[in-house]
Amino acid sequence: MRLTIKRRIAALYTLLTVVLLAILLPIVYGTVSASLNLDIQSRLESAIAQVLIAVDDQDEKFTINSQVDLPDYISLCVTDQEGRVFFSTSGGQWLKDASVDGNKKTSYQNETYTVLKEDFQIEEYVVTASAAISSDYAEQSLSTLRWLLLVLAPIYLGLSVAGAYLLAKRAIRPIADITRTAETISAGDLSKRIAEPVARDEVQELAITFNTMLDRLQESFQRERQFTSDASHELRTPVAVISACAEELAGEPLSEDGRETLEAVQKESQRMNKIISQLLVLTRGYEGRYHLDKERLPLREAVGSVLEEMKELAAAQGISLFNQVPEGMEVWADQSLLTQLLINLVGNAVKYGTKGGWVIIRAAQEKGSCVLTVSDNGIGMSPEELEHIFERFYRADKARDRSGSGLGLSIAQWIVHLHGGEITAQSQLGKGSQFTVALPRREGAPFPSEKKERSRP
Ligand code: ADP
Repeated sequence: MRLTIKRRIAALYTLLTVVLLAILLPIVYGTVSASLNLDIQSRLESAIAQVLIAVDDQDEKFTINSQVDLPDYISLCVTDQEGRVFFSTSGGQWLKDASVDGNKKTSYQNETYTVLKEDFQIEEYVVTASAAISSDYAEQSLSTLRWLLLVLAPIYLGLSVAGAYLLAKRAIRPIADITRTAETISAGDLSKRIAEPVARDEVQELAITFNTMLDRLQESFQRERQFTSDASHELRTPVAVISACAEELAGEPLSEDGRETLEAVQKESQRMNKIISQLLVLTRGYEGRYHLDKERLPLREAVGSVLEEMKELAAAQGISLFNQVPEGMEVWADQSLLTQLLINLVGNAVKYGTKGGWVIIRAAQEKGSCVLTVSDNGIGMSPEELEHIFERFYRADKARDRSGSGLGLSIAQWIVHLHGGEITAQSQLGKGSQFTVALPRREGAPFPSEKKERSRP
C-alpha cells in the first residue's frame, strides 16, 4: 500500500492520540479515585463528629442526648471505656469487633468497608467511635467512570483519526490538482498553466514557481521551433538554386567524372529538399498550425493507392507488396496525412527490406479502433535501436547506407497522435519489423494517449 502524506498524517495522529490517551486515562482515573477516597474520609469524619457532639455523660454512663441524623449508607458504632456499645446505627454493632487493615479496609458479610476508627477522651474516659462506608459506594462511581472511559476513548480515537484524515485530504487536495494539471502539461501543451490558489500559502508558492518554470520552458521551446522553422525557410532558396543550376548543367556536355559529380549534387540536393520539407511539416506541427480535415476514408483503397505509388521502387528491389486490408474497413482521418503516414511506413519497409522480400499491410477492427500493421522481412532492428526510432534525426547504423533523413517516423508519430491514435514498433534484427498503428474509428473515441501530444510531433 502506498503511504501517502494523508495516510502518514493519519497514522502519526493515531499514534499520538493513542499515546496521549494511554497517559491521560490513568491520570483521570487515579485522580477521580483519590478524590472519592477523600470524600469518603470526610463523610466518615463528619458522621463521627456529629455523634460525638451528641454524647452525654451521666454517672459514668454515656448516652446520646439528641437525635442523630446520619445517612443510611454510613454504619457507626460508639463504645465506652469498657467496650460496651452505647450508640450504633441499625446493624452497626459489628464495627465494635472489626479489625482494620493498613488501607483502613475491613470485610463484613462479603462486603468491603472503609473504616474510620478514632478514640476520644471524654473527661477521664476513653470513648471509641468507628464509622464505615461500604466500598460499593466508591466502586459504583469508579465502575461507571471505567465504562465511560472505555466506551468514549475508542469513539474519540475513531473520530479524531477520521477528522485528521479528512483534514489532511483537504490540505493535500490543491497539490493533487497541481499534479493533475502538471500531467496534462508535461504531455504536450506547454501553454497551459496551473490555477494558482487564492490562499497565500505553500501551495500557492508551488503553483507560482511551477508556472514561472513553464513560462521559461515555453519560451525556450518556442525559440527552438522558431529557429528550426527559420533555418528550414532560409535553406529552401539556396537548395532550390542548387537544384536548378544542376538541372541546367545536366543539359551541357560533360566529362564522365563531371557527370558523376553532377548526379551526386542532384541526388544530395533532392535529399536536402526532402529534409527541408519534412522539417517544415514538423515545425508546422510544433506550432499546432495544422488544420485537420477528418473524414471517413476507405482504408483498403487508401493503402492501395500508396502501394501503387511505391510499386516501382519496390520492384526495383525485388520486394513484393501485399494489401491485405479487408474490404469496407473505414478510418476517420485526414486524407493527405493518412497518405503521408502510409508512405512513410511502407517506404521504410521497402527501403529497409531485403532483395526478394515482402511487405504486407493488414488491418483489423478492435474495440473503437482500427488497427493497421505494416510488416516486412527486412533488415530489422536491435532492441536498442528500436528505443530511439521515433526521435528526430535518429538513424540506426545499418540504415546509414540507405537514403533517409531520420525524420520519417517522427512525422508518422505526429500524424498518429494528431488523430488521437497510437503507434508502436516491433522488430528483430535480421528478421524484419512490424509497425502497428491504432486509429480511432469514430470522432470522439480517443485513445488514452490522446491526452499526450495532440498536435505536436
Ligand atoms: P529514415 O529517413 O532514416 O528512414 P525514419 O524516421 O523513417 O528515418 O526511421 C528512423 C530509423 O528507423 C531508420 O533510420 C531505420 O534505422 C529505422 N527503421 C525504420 N523503419 C524500419 C524498418 N521497416 N526496418 C528496419 N529499420 C527501420
